[in-house]
Amino acid sequence: LRLFGVDVGGSAIKLGAVAPDGSAREERALAPSPDAALVLDALASALRELGHRPPAPVGVGLPGLFDRRAGRVLASPNLPWLEGLAIGDELSGRLALEPASVRLENDANAAALGELWLGAGRDARDFLLVTLGTGVGGGLVLGGELVLGAGLAGEIGHVVVDPEGPPCGCGGRGCVEALASASAARRRALAAGLPAERPGDLELLAERARAGPGPERELARAIGADLGRGLAAAVALLDLRRFLFGGGFSAALDTLEAGIRQGIAERAYGDRGSSIRLERALLGASAGWIGAAAIGLPTRT
Ligand SMILES: [Zn+2]
Repeated sequence: LRLFGVDVGGSAIKLGAVAPDGSAREERALAPSPDAALVLDALASALRELGHRPPAPVGVGLPGLFDRRAGRVLASPNLPWLEGLAIGDELSGRLALEPASVRLENDANAAALGELWLGAGRDARDFLLVTLGTGVGGGLVLGGELVLGAGLAGEIGHVVVDPEGPPCGCGGRGCVEALASASAARRRALAAGLPAERPGDLELLAERARAGPGPERELARAIGADLGRGLAAAVALLDLRRFLFGGGFSAALDTLEAGIRQGIAERAYGDRGSSIRLERALLGASAGWIGAAAIGLPTRT
């Protein structure tokens, strides 16, 4: 196991080691803490326990905005302890690595790389991975390569669906994230008089949506349609036919699918109908660290 990856999330920090041919892997999870130094110490010792030795590079997937070259997090609205953190220097120092050997990547991009390498995207050249969680992230793969643009490509979560819609964490309004994230789904359920406060409530709503017609199915269709209207932008611009869905809320994909197809059909130019594939990602919560580790692969196919 010679490739090492870390996925920094809100509820857990996942890390692991994987063989360069993907044949074997081992993974750990750490509880997050607001104390960055504690987290970094725990992370460095967990990596060493997994067999990390210099000069093996470490890939780190993170939510938010960061400076790839400087290895510094600029903003991370959901993880305040990360903001301003020079995670590249901090982690490389603890692991006796050159700073450039700690490579940062956006968490959804890392998950897309993971799915491309060992998951649902293995046989795909072109797809968008959409992570449905507290926020909505996106990782765009074209021609078998992750597309970064100037650094922020693939952010489907901030494609505007409804300019008059609810405010979004990015400062805009009516983004996909403000309408179709797990948090948005909770808000919309509460507004529709459905229970959504407690953990597990979204799963319950999905179960009811599956069971038969009713307000839960209506809500799932409405959320799916807004998501589909956002995906229509990717279909129109790139003629993408394949979308992979990760993140906790993707467990409800089957209940959202009719709405998603409706939303795409409504807004995309030309009828692509059944050629649009909507699939759940395969690696689940491991996609992020696996993809972050894949940054260390010399070439990806
Ligand atoms: Zn936004």
